[in-house]
Order: sequence, then structure tokens, then C-alpha cells
Amino acid sequence: MKLAQRTSTIGESATLKVARRANELSRQGVDIADFGAGEPDFPSPRVAVEAARRALADGFTKYTPAAGMPELRQALAESYQKRHASPWQAEDVVVTVGAKGALFELALALFEQGDEVVIPSPCWVSFPQQVRLAGGTPVLATMDPGDGFRLRADPILAALGPATRAVILNSPANPTGGVVGAADLEEIVEVCAARGVLVIADETYERFVYEGRHHSAATLAAHFPETVLIVGSFSKTYSMTGWRVGFTLGPRPLMRTVTNIQGHATSNATSFAMAGALAALRGAEDEVEAMIAEYRERRKLVVAALGRMPGVSCAPPAGAFYAFPDVSSYFGEGRAGSAELAEYLLEEARVAVVPGSAFGADRHVRISFACGRQTLEAGLERMAAALMK
Ligand code: PLP
Repeated sequence: MKLAQRTSTIGESATLKVARRANELSRQGVDIADFGAGEPDFPSPRVAVEAARRALADGFTKYTPAAGMPELRQALAESYQKRHASPWQAEDVVVTVGAKGALFELALALFEQGDEVVIPSPCWVSFPQQVRLAGGTPVLATMDPGDGFRLRADPILAALGPATRAVILNSPANPTGGVVGAADLEEIVEVCAARGVLVIADETYERFVYEGRHHSAATLAAHFPETVLIVGSFSKTYSMTGWRVGFTLGPRPLMRTVTNIQGHATSNATSFAMAGALAALRGAEDEVEAMIAEYRERRKLVVAALGRMPGVSCAPPAGAFYAFPDVSSYFGEGRAGSAELAEYLLEEARVAVVPGSAFGADRHVRISFACGRQTLEAGLERMAAALMK
């Protein structure tokens, strides 16, 4: 089958590959500690489930406007105004099929042959893939593991060139948990604006910050209305991954174009899922805070367990729900790099981790702590024993 040239670099997502093999083993009855998935293990908020059920029963089952349910756009605009003093109105919000949908539509709207997009690395697998699919060229700016992969202005700005169209700033970051500080964020946004470079801030993990507080690019949007935009999601904050509701807020002409693309790609996010998302936004704060408190405990547990493994180095992740330890001291025969080590851990310790090579950091593996404490404890113990073998 002849496929379009643009698909030539697209493979199965490494995160999905691990999940597939772990599932296969689970189905065979093998007890797997699954640290692979970036998917919260909590149920979706009750209010969201109820609202979606009601929406279905009430016949809210038709196409909505392409940019999404008006009440949800309004509620999102108000939420950002209230929390981050951002200038956006409902008209500046597009509700999308997950944050992934928002990022992809933005890439299609903005990037073409010859455009460069700076991405702090290690980075989430889909950022460079989406840029390439749109025809652009990802330029990776490497962050420092010794610094907890903090998103620093210097290496990011050093990667800017005459062809740079945008920076994708993911704070807190997947897979590292690195975050951006207030001063670095300001410098990045200011320098980019002066050069006409957009800052696409993917703040999908905004609520999961364990050291200090989250610094949102939205706080700078009033000063830089033409170059700052936000991508967000209900997936992680509200444990609503399968609902597929995300959003973007940004300059109105761009949001109009994203809406037009969405109109041709998916029409709209699912109507009753948006009704559920609206209910979550309005009334699930208690549940969100309980989840954050639980992640905080799990993070302690993971950092302590990794700290007990000789030769493994791991800066405590400042945010998100991933630890990203350097395990390269355990490379050797049959474990030549992170992919082989991940396979070894799956077969030998029944622990699923994602090889760091998927994110551009082969010395590391990603451990998601979006799973129960018992699973974490048991899996980390097995992992330690398998590494020591
Ligand atoms: N952005 C980042 C950084 C992510 O890690 C993920 C999911 O893993 C997404 C976006 C996608 O989120 P959604 O489920 O809203 O598409």
C-alpha cells in the first residue's frame, strides 16, 4: 500500500506499545504492576457522570457548534479569568477532542514546510510527531536532569532561529515532571513575543504541582495577547481520559481557524461528554483535591523507593504524575538501552515502565504513579530485585 510521505516517521506510540504487551500478559493471568499508562486510576467525578447521563436522557445527543457547547466555553473563559486574570472571552475558547485534538489542530493551523517548532526535551511523544505530520520541523532543546529537568529559558531561547514559529511549553512536563518557574516563563514569553514566536503552553498537568505553585502562561496573555495560547484537558485533572474533552484558549483569529479545521475534522467534541465536563468544572473540586493529595503520597513513596536503589538517580518530580529516573547504571548485556531494560523489567519483574528512548532520553525510564500505592510498592520492590540480579 502506498502511503503518504508524511506518515513515514509515524510508528506505534511507545507508550501504547508497552501497554499492549502488559495487557497481553495480564490477559494470560500474569499480575503486572503497570507503571506505563499516563492515565489516572480514579473514577471520573460523580457529578460528571450524572450530568452526562442526564444529557443523554434529555436528548442532548446532536451536533453542537464546532467550537463546542457555549456554556462550557463560557465556563472555561471564566475559570481562566478568575484563576489567571487572562483576557479571553468565550469566543476565544475552542473545546476539542482532548488536548491532543487541540494540539493537532493548532499544528495544522500554524505549521508548514520550513517552520521550526522548539520543544523542550525530553518531551511527550506526540509533540514532535504532530509537528512533523503538519509539515514542520521539531527542534529539541535539552533540559538538564541534574536540575530536575526544570524548563529553563536559556536552552529554550538558544534553540530559537529565524524559522522558529512556536515554542511548545509543557509545564508540568510529561515525562519528566519538570516545571517552569515564574522568571523563566516571563523571559520565554517576552523574548518569543519580540520575535513573533508563539508560545503554546500545554498545561494539561496544571493541577499536579508538588513544589511551589503552578505558573501558567495564561497570566501573561493580557500582555502578549497575540503570541500566548493555552492547551488544557479534562483528562488528567478530572480523571476523564476516555471522555476526550480538551480545549485551547488563544488569539481569536487563530481560534476561528482551529474551529474551522475542527469543523472539517471531528465536527465537535462529543455533546454529552461536554455536558459532563461542564459539571466537573463547576462542581468536582473536592474530588480533584483528594486526587492531588493521593498523588502527593504516591510521589513520596516512589521517590523514596527509587532512592533506595543503588545507582538509580531521580530528582523528585516537581509536577505531573511521573518519575523519570536515570537507570543507565543497570545497562549491560541484554539490557543495552532503555527499551531493552523496559522489556527485561516486564518479563522479569512483571513491571511495565516506558523506555526513556520514546521521549528522547535513553538513560531513563518513565514510571507513572497514576496507580494504587499497593501496586507501586510491590512493583518497585520487584523492580529493585530484578535490577540487582
Ligand atoms: N499533553 C500532554 C503533555 C500529555 O501527556 C497528554 C496525555 O498523555 C495529552 C496532552 C493528551 O491529553 P488528552 O487526553 O486531553 O488528549
